[in-house]
Amino acid sequence: MFIAGAGVAGLAAIGTAANLGAIVRANDTRAEVADQVVSLGGEFVKVDYEEEGSGGGGYAKVMSEGFQQAQREMYAKQAREVDIIITTALIPGKPAPKLITAEMVRSMKPGSVIVDMAAEQGGNCELTEPGQSVVKHGVTIVGYTDLVSRLAKQSSTLYSNNLLRLTEELCKTKDGVINVNMEDDAIRGLTVIKDGAVTWPAPPLKLPAPAPKPAAVAAPPSKGHGHGAGEPMSAKSLAITFGVGALALLVVGLFAPASFLSHFTVFVLACFIGYMVIWNVTPSLHTPLMSVTNAISSIIAIGALVQIAPPLEGAGTDRPNALILGMAVLALVLTAINMFGGFAVTRRMLAMFRK
Ligand code: NAD
Repeated sequence: MFIAGAGVAGLAAIGTAANLGAIVRANDTRAEVADQVVSLGGEFVKVDYEEEGSGGGGYAKVMSEGFQQAQREMYAKQAREVDIIITTALIPGKPAPKLITAEMVRSMKPGSVIVDMAAEQGGNCELTEPGQSVVKHGVTIVGYTDLVSRLAKQSSTLYSNNLLRLTEELCKTKDGVINVNMEDDAIRGLTVIKDGAVTWPAPPLKLPAPAPKPAAVAAPPSKGHGHGAGEPMSAKSLAITFGVGALALLVVGLFAPASFLSHFTVFVLACFIGYMVIWNVTPSLHTPLMSVTNAISSIIAIGALVQIAPPLEGAGTDRPNALILGMAVLALVLTAINMFGGFAVTRRMLAMFRK
């Protein structure tokens, strides 16, 4: 399940979905909510673009075109992978940002569902029809605008609870007198008159200090597991790398003996397959993957056993000397640690993901 916007409604959706056993991913323009998403059992999916989205007071600001482009690419990838999308993205007083395009809906698996909670403000999905539940390209898009009245009893209970807490906050006393704390953003924002003076409207909320980072730079769309980090290679350095590689291969081909070439081919293929396998696996699965490849590398145990085993009758070979035997025993001990230790660590790690 993918949740767009991790405010009040988004965080509630993340917690509920995680408790129901779903694998939950979420995104928000405010990086500060990442920890909250994780604490509720979700995974925070970052947009590959450095820009802080907080507009102060727990609300977002409108993001730059560069950020929106990078965000659309990330959302397109999520749309292809997930079964359910819940969108709750909203900036107060602004139309809902269009985050899920018609193309993304088309790319979703048939039978998938989008719940567009921002339908009342126009919807986060291009194909949402406010007030309706419709099926488009095999995807059910729920755009109800009366979610609150569909759950009248729960809504009333929650609303009255909120009002009670607000009243408590407003009625805090100082030396036996009710203290209207104008330093508190929430109280300042809803105070219209204080001590006979009109205090409405409240001054705009203070924006957080700009991040100490340099100007926003578009990061390249990452390939594979979507967590690409580091500087992109420029076309020039890429061409130089390929050129040097091709030259090195030519030298090897011209001067190396044939026996070396067969080993070299296996080596190059192993590097290529290893790179492709590791790079296309999500980083959180690298440890289990490593334990399997570790176990495969432990095949040297067979070599050690061959050295330790008594020579076959009539084979005409002597038992290896003490040094070789000692090294074979050492190799067996080390491979056993490598193999069983790797699986033990993997087991422990996977247990953390089990619910
Ligand atoms: P909220 O302000 O708490 O959350 C909105 C979130 O969207 C914020 O965290 C904000 O940072 C994020 N956001 C803004 N622009 C974004 C973007 N371009 N990309 C990603 N994230 C972005 O608001 P809320 O109470 O969670 O409500 C969200 C929507 O759900 C609203 O349309 C509201 O009408 C609807 N809704 C809310 C409730 C409720 O109980 N809270 C009930 C029914 C419907």
